[in-house]
Amino acid sequence: TTFEDFKLNRQLLNAIEEAGYEKPTPIQLKAIPIIMGGHDVMGIAQTGTGKTAAFLLPILMKVKYAQGNNPRAIILAPTRELAMQIEENITLLGKYTDLRHTVIYGGLGPKTQIEALNKGIDILVATPKRLMELYLKGELILKEVKTLVLDEADKMMDMGFMPQIRQLLEILPRKRQNLLFSATMHPKVVELSEEFLEFPTRIEV
Ligand code: AMP
Repeated sequence: TTFEDFKLNRQLLNAIEEAGYEKPTPIQLKAIPIIMGGHDVMGIAQTGTGKTAAFLLPILMKVKYAQGNNPRAIILAPTRELAMQIEENITLLGKYTDLRHTVIYGGLGPKTQIEALNKGIDILVATPKRLMELYLKGELILKEVKTLVLDEADKMMDMGFMPQIRQLLEILPRKRQNLLFSATMHPKVVELSEEFLEFPTRIEV
């Protein structure tokens, strides 16, 4: 199987080629068709397996440029470092799409981030606390979100982000696709997945 066998568009295939990805990794082989099929996914995969591209490529396929000015896909990450890394992957793989994306995280004032949001965003990467802060300030409209990714869900639980995640789940539109990635099958992650995923396909690598 090659990347050409997935129903990805030419813009994405060109970016994949330029990134030097010759063939899909095991998690990509398993996850991309299922995510493109619209299913919820519980992915057990470590960093280094190519999990980021496994969820980003279907999102980059599905989200259409400027069909709204509010995010249609949200990717939550436990740390600023991981959030920035995901954003870099979007820049790399989304290079030939015109999708607008940004990353928001804590530890600095929100002014620049709010300005970025106000320009219109298709895909948003965020840490949980800053996302909820900006939402509660009225700086972020979440009613167009159709895909939610929780990356490193086990780490998010460890870091105490469960309240923010629960709060977010109450706010987001009911009808959406949910993708949860975790390095471990910690009981708390299983509990979260039962609460949050609908008939998920479990993928392990
Ligand atoms: P991740 O597990 O998402 O953190 O990815 C680990 C590294 O593998 C990153 O540097 C990616 O750019 C790279 N990568 C992702 N998919 C592929 C692929 N299919 N072939 C080669 N490298 C890849």
